[in-house]
Amino acid sequence: MYDNIEYIIILLGVVLIIFFILYLIFKNPFKYPYFNYYFDISGKRNPDAKNLLDNFLNQGNFIIIKEHNEKIEQWKIECKKKIEQSKIKKYRTKQYQKVLNDKEAYIFYLTRNQTRYKQKNYIRMSYKVAVTESYFSCSYDYLFNRNERLKAINYECTLKEYNSNNQRKLMTKELRKEIINRDNYTCQLCGKYMPDEVGLHVDHIIPISKGGKTIPSNLQVLCSKCNGNKSNK
Ligand SMILES: [Zn+2]
Repeated sequence: MYDNIEYIIILLGVVLIIFFILYLIFKNPFKYPYFNYYFDISGKRNPDAKNLLDNFLNQGNFIIIKEHNEKIEQWKIECKKKIEQSKIKKYRTKQYQKVLNDKEAYIFYLTRNQTRYKQKNYIRMSYKVAVTESYFSCSYDYLFNRNERLKAINYECTLKEYNSNNQRKLMTKELRKEIINRDNYTCQLCGKYMPDEVGLHVDHIIPISKGGKTIPSNLQVLCSKCNGNKSNK
């Protein structure tokens, strides 16, 4: 009687081990190398995902994207080697194709820092957690094309800003300050120096009415006299 129970336990153990080995052999050995990036949108009311992405690219970050693409290509080569060496080529190929996801290789998360509280020994403590509000994914080609379009406008603004119909609104205090500093408080036509900013204008070289954009390369400092002469023409 007892002999029988021992026999059953050993048999069950052997079956379990066999199943475990089979699981190890047949489970998918491939894991797609996704690119993950987190945008901190704390304090932003209506964050525009594409704008965040453009700003990310404007800061010269395409190099990270490119490096990751090389990593993906390297991974593909290694996978193909693994398949070639495998005894179950067809099965492995199917598994490989299942994880392949170039269209959504790059994932960008929009996260917000939230303050949470916990009670400890009658003392209220606060701590911050990053909560993902939303995310979007895209392919390398999409990012490549977007970067090319930003490169064409010298990474001066986001595409949304560039295509905005309301170019006048884009003239912010910060941008004005940037142009004044770049041009050193000096009229770009007559050379008048205006350190007190009296009569100083930030002018659109190509007027907005003629399709000029509010981007640094289309802006210059003028004195009121030169600005007046320009608008009289
Ligand atoms: Zn002038």
